[in-house]
Amino acid sequence: MFENGNSNKNTIEDNDIEIKGIIESSFLDWDGKIVTTIYLPKCNFRCPFCHNWELIEHPDKFKSISPSELDRHLITNRDFLDGVCITGGEPTLYNGLTKFIEQLKDLGSERVLLIRAYSLHLNLHDHL
Ligand code: SF4
Repeated sequence: MFENGNSNKNTIEDNDIEIKGIIESSFLDWDGKIVTTIYLPKCNFRCPFCHNWELIEHPDKFKSISPSELDRHLITNRDFLDGVCITGGEPTLYNGLTKFIEQLKDLGSERVLLIRAYSLHLNLHDHL
């Protein structure tokens, strides 16, 4: 469940994270939890069976979701949501991922689930 975060830091600042898709209330991505799922477009693979190939190959086709839109959604629904799921693509390709996760936690998200394609950056576990 979202808790009231640190009120001095309850915004998602700009970083290199590019959000190209959102499911505001997903009941499927995290067993037993209601989460907001966000999609980041990069991937270092080109799997022929990719379920999100358009997002990987043609990210410009998709409208970007601004940090302030995500902020607003998470704050408005913090009593309803259990957490945030970050997927793609391969989220660990973003240098700003750990900062982004910290911002989500500052905003009040107790739980952040990372669905990743392959390689986890060194030391990322220390921040999750
Ligand atoms: S690793 Fe996943 S997101 Fe990346 S190309 Fe393969 S199926 Fe698509």
